[in-house]
Amino acid sequence: MYKYYIKTFGCQMNKNDSDIINQILTDDGLSLVENPIEADIIFINTCSVREHAEQRALGYISTLKKWREKKGIVLGVIGCMAKRLADEIITEYPFVDLVLGPDSYRKIPAYIKFVTENKTKVIDVEVGSESYTNIEKTSHRVSDFVSITRGCDNYCSYCIVPFVRGRMRSRPTDDILREMGCLIELGVKDITLLGQNVNEYSYNGINFPELLRIVAKKTGVFRLRFLTSHPKDFSEEIINVIKENKNICEWFHLPLQSGNNRILRLMNRKYTKEDYLGIIKKIKKNIPEATITTDIIVGFPTESEEEFNETIELVKQIEFDDAYMYRYSVRLGTKAGEYPPLPEEVIKQRLKILIGVQNQIIIEKTKQMMGKTFEVLFEEKTHNGTRGKTRGNKDVIVEQNIEPGSVFNVLITEIRGRTPIGRLT
Ligand code: SF4
Repeated sequence: MYKYYIKTFGCQMNKNDSDIINQILTDDGLSLVENPIEADIIFINTCSVREHAEQRALGYISTLKKWREKKGIVLGVIGCMAKRLADEIITEYPFVDLVLGPDSYRKIPAYIKFVTENKTKVIDVEVGSESYTNIEKTSHRVSDFVSITRGCDNYCSYCIVPFVRGRMRSRPTDDILREMGCLIELGVKDITLLGQNVNEYSYNGINFPELLRIVAKKTGVFRLRFLTSHPKDFSEEIINVIKENKNICEWFHLPLQSGNNRILRLMNRKYTKEDYLGIIKKIKKNIPEATITTDIIVGFPTESEEEFNETIELVKQIEFDDAYMYRYSVRLGTKAGEYPPLPEEVIKQRLKILIGVQNQIIIEKTKQMMGKTFEVLFEEKTHNGTRGKTRGNKDVIVEQNIEPGSVFNVLITEIRGRTPIGRLT
C-alpha cells in the first residue's frame, strides 16, 4: 500500500481540493502521511493567483529532486500552476511524473498505476466540466468547507483563475446537501459554502439565496457561512435569508479590490464605489451586528496616488473587520498583464500604508469587544488554552482546556495584541 503526502499552496478552494484528493486516494487504498520523508508519492497542489505563490511552489518542487531520484515513486504537480505552466514544469523539472490540472483528480489512481507500470509521465490539464459530485469527503474538523461552484466566468482583468479553473459550473443542490449531511454526521458544526463567486450559483432554477435557504433549513447545520461573494451579484435577498435563518452567520466577505471607479473599471469588476457603499449600507441597516471583511489590491497598473488615497478613505469610512491586502502581481495572459506595471517600490509603499490603516481599525474594533459576551464555537487547543470562533468569524482564546466542538458564551476580559481573550460565562 503506497503512502502519500500532499503539500497545499494557495486559497481555501485549493485546500478543499486537497481534501477531495485525499478522499479519492484513501478510497483507493493509499494512506496519507504527515511527513513527506515517509511518503512514496508526493503531490504539490499549486496556486497561480500571485507570482510569489508560484515561486514558492517551484522552489518546493526543486527540493524534492533528490527524494524522487533516491526514494520516491511518483512526484505529482497538480492544481492551477500545473495547468498554467505544464510545459515549463515538464522541461525544467524532468523528475516530475504527473502534471495535472484542477479537473483531473478523479483520474489520479489510474495515473499512478500508469506511470509506475510504464515508467513514463502524464500531463492532463484539460479543465471545464468536473464538479466532483458524489465524493464521500470525510472530516475530523469542527469547521469545514463545501464547494458549491467551480471555475469562474468573470474575467477580472488581473485574475488568472478563469484561465486555469475553467468556466463557472454549479454543483447539484442534492449533492451539496448530501455532502453537508455526511459532514454534520461526522461532527462538523460550522460549514462554509465555497466558490469563486457563490452569488452566481444557479442549478435547475435554484439561485444562491434559495440555495442558502434550502441548506440552512434542510441540514440544520449549527453554523452556515459562504465565501466569496462578488459585489456585482450581491442581492438584498441574501440579507433577508440570513435574517430568516438563525444558523446563517452574519459574516460577509465582499472583495472591494479598489476604492476608485476608474481602477474598478480597469479591473473589470462591474460595480462602482457607490454600488459597494450601497451594499454595505443595506447590510449594516438590516444586520447591525454584521461583520464585513474584504480583499484589496494596491498598485494596480496606472493607479495614481489620488486613486490609491480614495481606497484608503473608503477603508476608513467602512471600517472593515478584517482585510486580505495584496500588492498587484502581474499575471501574463490576463488583460492587466498587458499594462505597464507601477514601480515595485511604489506598490510596496502603498501596501504598507494600507496595512497600517487597516490594522489600526482592527485594533480599535477588537477593543470594542471588551466586556461583551459572544457565542463561541471552540475549534482547537492552543499553547495557552483553546481557540474558538464567534459567529462573526473572529478568533477568541479562552485560557482553559475546552473540548473542540463545544459551544459556550464567552465574556471578553482582555485584548492581547489583536486577540480577544475571554472566560466562560
Ligand atoms: S470573480 Fe474575478 S477575482 Fe474572483 S476568481 Fe473570478 S475572475 Fe478572479
